[in-house]
Amino acid sequence: MKLRFLLRTLGTLSLSLGMGLAAPSAPAALRVATLHPLLTDLAQQVGGAQVTVLAIVAPGTDVHHFSPSPQNMQQLAGADLVLASGKQLENYLGKLQDNLRAGQTLLEVGKSIPSLELSEAAALLEAPETGPAGHRHGGVDPHWWNSVENMQRATRVLAAAFAQADPPQAPAYQAHAAAYLKQLTELKSWARREFSKIPPEQRKLATAHLSLGYFAQEFGFRLIPVQGLNPEIPATSQDLAAAVDTIRQSKVRAVFPEQGVNPKLLAKIASETGVTFAGQLIADGNGTAALASFTAAFTHNVQEIVRALAP
Ligand SMILES: [Zn+2]
Repeated sequence: MKLRFLLRTLGTLSLSLGMGLAAPSAPAALRVATLHPLLTDLAQQVGGAQVTVLAIVAPGTDVHHFSPSPQNMQQLAGADLVLASGKQLENYLGKLQDNLRAGQTLLEVGKSIPSLELSEAAALLEAPETGPAGHRHGGVDPHWWNSVENMQRATRVLAAAFAQADPPQAPAYQAHAAAYLKQLTELKSWARREFSKIPPEQRKLATAHLSLGYFAQEFGFRLIPVQGLNPEIPATSQDLAAAVDTIRQSKVRAVFPEQGVNPKLLAKIASETGVTFAGQLIADGNGTAALASFTAAFTHNVQEIVRALAP
């Protein structure tokens, strides 16, 4: 009894001592605002306890059509660093930049990542005529987050940016980044082992929109995006007929619906062609709840692809 009391007292004492010592010298945490759910995850991975992350774009949001509200603009005023995906995903960055105050930095993370031009993405297509060209806006595929290597590049970008904004914590950011980079390397090796279960001629991803170009490039898949780059634009009956033809000719085993994209058209194609209507993929990095982080969403995607395409 006495011992327990003593331990409790000591615990309280050391806790208050710790707090007392830390409080006067502890610098205010770096405040980082994020414009993509996966950047929220990455900022937390790299920042750890040393940053306060302010998620402007919540998990589950349609990242192609998000636009900041006046309230979001007020929230952004509290950030030291604002992280955007870049690669033309956010068409409001000019306006946002104009509203920043001195000392705030806007960082387009995608700028430091090699771009997949849409013309190159087209080379990954099973049938380049699938997906009307009019659905493609801009010349660059914005979905850089669908690649483990790109996420590793982004990790290094964040570690450098955080260190520059908050030099005393640079060693902590480097340590967090190193641990996460190792985790990503293991994730990529695991994905390669999983995909080796799929016969090479079956490594084709039929999805609603052209969202997996970086993924296809990294892991050796061909793409069949039924609705082109922008899933919002409804496909015409000619698009549907062309997609059904492509699915038949390519002899794919499955079509994959995507989180946040109306699955009606893909379901129709699946029923017309008799291929499997597979589990939903998270292509825009906007998974919710347990699938909000990059590693969780990526693992989920790999599992769904292998489940549908491996014999
Ligand atoms: Zn997308």
